[in-house]
Amino acid sequence: MKKLVLDLDETLLYSTTEAISPECVKLSAAGSDFYTMLRPGVREFLQKVAKKFECTIWSTGQQAYLESVWEYIGVEGFTLWGRGFCKKIETTDGSEPYEKPLRQITEDLTQIVIVDNTPSLFAKCPLNGILTRTWRGDMNDTELNHLWYYLNWLQAQPNMQRNHEHWRIETLCLRNCMP
Ligand SMILES: [Mg+2]
Repeated sequence: MKKLVLDLDETLLYSTTEAISPECVKLSAAGSDFYTMLRPGVREFLQKVAKKFECTIWSTGQQAYLESVWEYIGVEGFTLWGRGFCKKIETTDGSEPYEKPLRQITEDLTQIVIVDNTPSLFAKCPLNGILTRTWRGDMNDTELNHLWYYLNWLQAQPNMQRNHEHWRIETLCLRNCMP
């Protein structure tokens, strides 16, 4: 089965220390409270991709935070990897000081793809990375719906490594061709 890695923060949801919208839900992890809101369509998206891929949620957040949020989302069939699975890297430009080395999941990079809103996290595997728009609470956002169409198409390709840069435009073409 092909493998899908999904980022958590600003890709599937948005967490803050204060409630910024009526959509926010109060959660806690390791003794600290926080507020989380879900990107529109996230549960449906997760249920669909879980049928097509072996899925890992890979966050640069702490494992306790990841598990707390995931309990709230309540969708089963996902492996949860927190910061402990990321590799720390030296940065001088203020970018994310971590990377997510996909070879920790599989040596065969033709069979794995990562979805993330931070390109530096997959910079060493650019043909495996699908960049999503950073999400911070816009309830009119439709990114996950488009992304599902792209992933559904991609999963049927023998080799998933490619230039994913224009995935949104390609998805529009795919959707227009579908019955
Ligand atoms: Mg992120």
